[in-house]
Amino acid sequence: MNFEKLVEIYMQLEKTASGNEMRQILAEFFKSVPKDDIHIVAYLTLGKLGAEYEDVVLGLAEKSVVKAIAKAAGVSEAKVKELVDKRGDAGLAAEDLLKKKPMTLVPVGELTIHEFFEKLHKIANTDGSGSQDTKANILVSLLQKTSAAGARYLIRIVLGQLRMGVAEMTVLDALAIAYTGEKKNKEILEYAYNISPDVGIIAETIAKNGLKGFDHFSVQVGRPVKMMLAQRVEELEEISKKIECEMIVEGKYDGERVQAHKLSDGKIILFSRRLDTITDQFPDLVEYLGKYVKAKTFVLEGEILAIDAEGNPLPFQTLMQRRRKYDVAEYVSKIPIQLKVFDLLYVDGVSYLDKPLVDREKKTKQMISSSGQVVVAERIVTSSIDEVEEFFQKMLERGYEGIIVKNPQGEYQAGTRGWNWIKWKKDYVKELSDTFDLVVLGAYIGRGRRHGTYGALLGGIYDEKNDEFLSFCKIGTGLNDEMLAELPTRFKEYVVGKKPARVKVEKIMEPDVWFSPEIVVEVSGAEITQSPSHTAGVALRFPRFLRYREKSAEQATTVKEVKGMMGK
Ligand code: AMP
Repeated sequence: MNFEKLVEIYMQLEKTASGNEMRQILAEFFKSVPKDDIHIVAYLTLGKLGAEYEDVVLGLAEKSVVKAIAKAAGVSEAKVKELVDKRGDAGLAAEDLLKKKPMTLVPVGELTIHEFFEKLHKIANTDGSGSQDTKANILVSLLQKTSAAGARYLIRIVLGQLRMGVAEMTVLDALAIAYTGEKKNKEILEYAYNISPDVGIIAETIAKNGLKGFDHFSVQVGRPVKMMLAQRVEELEEISKKIECEMIVEGKYDGERVQAHKLSDGKIILFSRRLDTITDQFPDLVEYLGKYVKAKTFVLEGEILAIDAEGNPLPFQTLMQRRRKYDVAEYVSKIPIQLKVFDLLYVDGVSYLDKPLVDREKKTKQMISSSGQVVVAERIVTSSIDEVEEFFQKMLERGYEGIIVKNPQGEYQAGTRGWNWIKWKKDYVKELSDTFDLVVLGAYIGRGRRHGTYGALLGGIYDEKNDEFLSFCKIGTGLNDEMLAELPTRFKEYVVGKKPARVKVEKIMEPDVWFSPEIVVEVSGAEITQSPSHTAGVALRFPRFLRYREKSAEQATTVKEVKGMMGK
């Protein structure tokens, strides 16, 4: 096909602002495109030279583009520059100049879409010294073979400025209309696109094999799968309505999502959530995956976390320092990482996308030999929302963002924010307007990030009728690292060997260390609920430490006040 055919379409698309019209223009056009050209056309309508994730970079400096236009149009570079500034668009400037080029520079021969595409790839693949000149010369040869209007689009493509308003979904819609006659079939194309986010492959498949071409469409190692995303709910309880069976609950790690692919030749490629290749930034992770994952080929997903010397998670900002082009080796040793693996998409020739999460999880565990660098995400299986909430608090104490509740029977929904994954983060917790002054009754020994200090405090309210302190909640959030570190020192003088006389605590809530009831802290919370685990009979949900109070224990919030707040 001649490139000028595509130029006509570009001109029509540029004139319309309606998405519907764009789809119709493209659909009509696609019908006329030879099947062997359709993948190229699909990319070029988006101004791309390949799948989005391939990120083909032409690497042409603006100076070289000016040089090429000058040469092709037979004018000085200064003239080109002047016109580019005036028009504010190098494409329009090239068009103007080529319209007036001397007859001696009239093109010979036709420019096919194949040659156009190949030469642009040649520009992308040229590097090393003198490459800007070689790139510019290839561009000249293309400019010599296009019409003036063609030059407008060629230059825009080269500069990554086609901006036609055509998106991947528009192309998929148009392909569905062109090859199946029905727009509704775009769902099938979209599904395939989520597994294989490459419009060229989708276009070629539908053009050559029709819808049945997608029947056996599957994960291919080396090609990223669009990542599954998590839904959110307003209230924690809603989760059990969305996932009616047992729930798998995992920590929501605040790091960087990664999809790791191991090819049959042993090569490992890492893709980011946006499907960019991030392999070069994590040579350590590549090494760990090769070492600790037992499979010839795989596609698995997890979260990369920066960790300290003890293996505890560090904040996201620390990990972000690993996002670099230079000094990678230095930062590999400066900021060690760990991968928390939470999903498996493919292993040794078998796609796991359609298999229930429990099966994916079982297989993941079999594949991974335990190490500090690659670990399977910690999780609990439960049908009790109370246990979900408890796990949530525990995850916050360990320094994570919250939890992700997953449907054990759910499949991997590529590119979809579905109900098989539901996130619950600390910032979703809505707080009551009143705060509580609680007596600290004891503390629990910290784990993970809180190793060496207390992980949580046991807070109590005052029962003035019986002159007793009743447990009300565990306080684990709201304390920063500094406050956490100083807890044992601060509470040292209040530590007692056994439960103090006026303190009443249920067996399951007994702290590791008892305190004489003297310190009062102000705590906020989301809700007061009935609770058999706390001697107050009620408990504060999502408690958060605010500050220490200069109050005596008997001046703490009383049972009567709490009941009053509950309207009893
Ligand atoms: P959000 O970005 O808030 O929509 O939350 C989804 C993100 O949480 C995912 O893209 C992952 O990067 C991250 N994440 C952390 N832990 C997990 C986990 N256990 N399972 C799934 N995603 C997780």
